[in-house]
Amino acid sequence: MFDLATATPDCADGGVWLACIDCGQRLAPFDIPVYRCPDCDGLLEARYEQYPTFEEFSGRGVWRYDAALPFESGVSLPEGDTPLHEVPRLESDLDVRSLRVKHEGMNPTGSFKDRGMTLGVRVAEELDVSRLACASTGNTSAALAAYGGRAGLETLVLLPAGKVAAGKVAQAALHGARILEVDGNFDACLDIVSDLAERGEAYLLNSLNPFRLEGQKTIGFEILEAFRDDYGRFPDRIVLPVGNAGNTAALYKAFRELVQSGALAEEEVPMLTGVQAEGAAPMVEAIEEGWDDTERWESVETRATAIRIGNPVNAPKAIPGIRATGGTAVAVSDAEITDAQRSLAAEGVGVEPASAASVAGLRKLRDEGVIESEEDVVCLTTGHLLKDPDAAAAAGSEPEPVPNGTEAVLDHLSG
Ligand SMILES: *Cc1c(COP(=O)(O)O)cnc(C)c1O
Ligand SMILES: [Zn+2]
Repeated sequence: MFDLATATPDCADGGVWLACIDCGQRLAPFDIPVYRCPDCDGLLEARYEQYPTFEEFSGRGVWRYDAALPFESGVSLPEGDTPLHEVPRLESDLDVRSLRVKHEGMNPTGSFKDRGMTLGVRVAEELDVSRLACASTGNTSAALAAYGGRAGLETLVLLPAGKVAAGKVAQAALHGARILEVDGNFDACLDIVSDLAERGEAYLLNSLNPFRLEGQKTIGFEILEAFRDDYGRFPDRIVLPVGNAGNTAALYKAFRELVQSGALAEEEVPMLTGVQAEGAAPMVEAIEEGWDDTERWESVETRATAIRIGNPVNAPKAIPGIRATGGTAVAVSDAEITDAQRSLAAEGVGVEPASAASVAGLRKLRDEGVIESEEDVVCLTTGHLLKDPDAAAAAGSEPEPVPNGTEAVLDHLSG
């Protein structure tokens, strides 16, 4: 279940190739853009001649992990090196052995998407494409616009009209993306942009692109290194929000690579635990039903717009990861998400609603006794509070109007 090793095929380029996760077909990685297996339509995964050990990592940010990446550098802002916050009050409230919060909102454009984009744009340069495109619930579009723009490439984003948080649209617009608002949900946007990519109109930088996940797997390396430095052991469990399940797949890939190189024992691999909003929970359904893929939810709704997704494209990669690591998946309500957003904010950690789903999921699984009090847990928070100012304002306290004058302010405070 953790196996990655096979002999290097002729199609490899610099010790890297793509493999279909369903039929095993192997493809050249940088000849032409390819997103799915030409034979069976399965998802593709990057494979390497050699997998990394911790000793090979040096430098800073995502590119510290170049021993596990297809290139040594790329357009960088720079990304990665995000904090692994202590949250002592939440830790004792949730009653776990230890709780840390990996705040991916501290990346340059405010979400973990930057880690995938630095890699994705580097591959786009290798392929010599001129137009980059993505469908997005918001954060991918912000990252694509920033990294693509910095590389001097044209960027096109398709967003579900009226369903993207204000901060994210503003970023995509200012960083220079051409923004198309589609009268449909995220899944409809992804269908369209996949068609455009298939017709050669643009290079697709959604997490269907296997190289996005190569960048995002560095979250897993960073968590393991930082946790081990602080505690001398690895965490038992990583709890994360799930939209397209790219991160779940990427973390699993990071762990498999370390197991393959002998740097990590199979029993040291943290349990991957996915959290979705109740109104958009096809992964939870698939895990509960024992399916190998999700069934598409046609209508989805949640305040956590970043995970308002009914057809998680990376489910066939992520579901085996959840199972192989002994993890699980759980759905939480929007009210539970807002509560968790407040508890994180009370400790100084400002996150957008989707991010808080991880902590809401941890609370629920603690209440249900699925997660035990002896566990070392890391919650992943995926995006910054300022991404969704409307949600933050709605979850926070109301401003109080006061007259202009010190006495009046004092009166108000004592009233
Ligand atoms: C993209 C995104 C997610 C979902 O991540 P997946 O890898 O698609 O599961 C969750 N939270 C935020 C803030 C995001 O931007
Ligand atoms: Zn195939």
